[in-house]
Amino acid sequence: MTAPTGAFFPGGAILLALTILGFGAFFWRAWRLYRFLRLGRPEARLDHPWLRLRDELVIYLGQRKLLKRPYYARGLAHAFIFWGFLVITIGTVDLLANGIAGFHLPGAGSAVFAWTIDIFAVLVLGSIAIALIRRIFFAPPRMHVALDGYVILGLIAILMITLLVFEGAGLAAGNLEKGYTPPPLAGLFLRSSVFPGESSAVVFYWAWWLHLVTVLAFAAYLPQSKHLHIVTTLPNVFFRKQTPRGALGLIDDIENKETFGAATIRDFSWKQLLDGYTCTECGRCSDNCPALATGKPLDPQKIVLDVRDQLLAEGRALLKDPKAATKPPAHWVESKPEELWACTTCAACVEACPVTIEHIDKIVDMRRHLTLMEGAAPPEAQRAMTNIERSGNPWGEPRDTRGDWAKELGVPTFAENPDAEYLYFVGCAASVDRRNQRVARALVAILRAANVSFAILGTEETCNGDPARRIGNEYLWQLQAQQNIATFSKYGVKKVIASCPHCFNTIANEYPQLGGSYEVLHALQLVDRLLGERKLRIGSDGQEIVAYHDPCYLGRHNRIYDQPRAVLDALPGIQRAEIAPHHRERGFCCGAGGGRMWMEEKVGERVNHRRIDQLLAAKTGATKVASGCPFCLIMLEEGVGAKGVQEQVRPVDVLELVAGRLQN
Ligand code: SF4
Ligand code: SF4
Repeated sequence: MTAPTGAFFPGGAILLALTILGFGAFFWRAWRLYRFLRLGRPEARLDHPWLRLRDELVIYLGQRKLLKRPYYARGLAHAFIFWGFLVITIGTVDLLANGIAGFHLPGAGSAVFAWTIDIFAVLVLGSIAIALIRRIFFAPPRMHVALDGYVILGLIAILMITLLVFEGAGLAAGNLEKGYTPPPLAGLFLRSSVFPGESSAVVFYWAWWLHLVTVLAFAAYLPQSKHLHIVTTLPNVFFRKQTPRGALGLIDDIENKETFGAATIRDFSWKQLLDGYTCTECGRCSDNCPALATGKPLDPQKIVLDVRDQLLAEGRALLKDPKAATKPPAHWVESKPEELWACTTCAACVEACPVTIEHIDKIVDMRRHLTLMEGAAPPEAQRAMTNIERSGNPWGEPRDTRGDWAKELGVPTFAENPDAEYLYFVGCAASVDRRNQRVARALVAILRAANVSFAILGTEETCNGDPARRIGNEYLWQLQAQQNIATFSKYGVKKVIASCPHCFNTIANEYPQLGGSYEVLHALQLVDRLLGERKLRIGSDGQEIVAYHDPCYLGRHNRIYDQPRAVLDALPGIQRAEIAPHHRERGFCCGAGGGRMWMEEKVGERVNHRRIDQLLAAKTGATKVASGCPFCLIMLEEGVGAKGVQEQVRPVDVLELVAGRLQN
């Protein structure tokens, strides 16, 4: 790194004053923003410290979430700006230290350091050029392109150019301290022929000052801008959720609470508020949202930015008077309730976000306010909750018929076979929906073929509570969960199998919040294991191509992508197909999650119809589309019917394909 010769030292006092001004402005604003954050409710985010450190290395420094399909190219450009920024920050500290106090950071004169700074300066400049071209000519539709972004990019570009110029000119002027490694790339670009004679010393002088003044202007501007993520990504990644993605936060001591959900901006946790500061406005979440893609008023990016904007708008008044009036976030804009009810909680936004923002928790917190404080859930959702309350299932089928499907099969209940190893938690769909009862029968056949010891709860089982919780009725969820947990305890249940990903997710990830911890397997995980242990003999049932549809609560929420595929691959005659590019992490929701199964879908295109379009567009030649979720099955069946392709491609559950090929 080129160092000032010390001739600047008389200017050190000016530089010191400017540094105090620049960083003073930074810290003054940062302190205010920090105090705004503290308006949020407390939330413990210091569990799993080693995982948090790993995330800093992998997600923050390694930029893993930025470098994902289909964003590799633009992700790489942004990653170079980020990495370059980090490296050049070290160089800047060295420049300031030398300019103000006349000393260098250890190692700042080494060849490695000189090369690193130079290479990154060039890479950052190239990446900025790409970013500018993209913003001006090819801006992705969901990306916010504002003046603010250009100012930030412009300042970084000035930093890089002045760095290269003062390094090159310094080299030409012989302005290097003894022992310093010449800046290699800057030297290549700016040989003495560019700034002959004495002019190189003048250029060096002014470029050096312009560089440092730009650094300080950048520091002063940054916290005023909407690009706070440059600073807040580091803590946002560190404090990200380490509990399972599929687990919503518990409202504890609910009986004694007077308000529920996000009634004011202060009801969001400090971490939820930090998410708002951290949004880069890249639009990736919106790109992947099935609700937005099908014309609903929901835009996950806007959900996050509205929280930020409300905090910035109301924060100052709340600091003065904690009881100052604040608007309920669920009504921050007039369309907000419609936005919130459109969410399927599919987690495509959470998966896509490069800076680990958690959208669903905010949406559900606002739904909790609408449902529990205002009684403003959509009427169909309200009906589903009343059905759960009265009948133990959202369809409203009589509670005492819940185990009827199993009677003709002679499946024992736990009351009849208390020594069973596994509880098969059937779930509402497979208990009361005729189509899904066939899936439950298929699982029974598989378990029996493999001699698995299991029993069901029959009429003692009630809804796991997932729809109620995601509609925002935490109270009803807790009642359902406590009832099931009490029944599990009564029979000493330790291992649970669920054929429904929503039951699986809730029992595995959310029941522990109420003290119910079990070994929980989705049925396809167990079948994969049984196949591996050669406990199932499988024959062929002819050749066919089967496309696999990833259920959100199996895939993105619980990262179970491979086991269902392994089961399909183990079936002779079946050729598995992928619904590319909308598969695995980028799988497209069926439209039924988040309680949407029981809500009408009147705005835009139906999500499940779009899914069938994607299936057909993938041209897989599949005659079946297989999934591992009862809600997906219902939605896919409706979708193929509505599109008139039910003869061409038939929705099935993977369990049915296995059961149909059993030979033992
Ligand atoms: S969870 Fe799914 S539906 Fe809801 S905002 Fe995110 S991407 Fe959209
Ligand atoms: S929430 Fe995340 S993915 Fe969405 S715009 Fe903000 S940074 Fe991008």
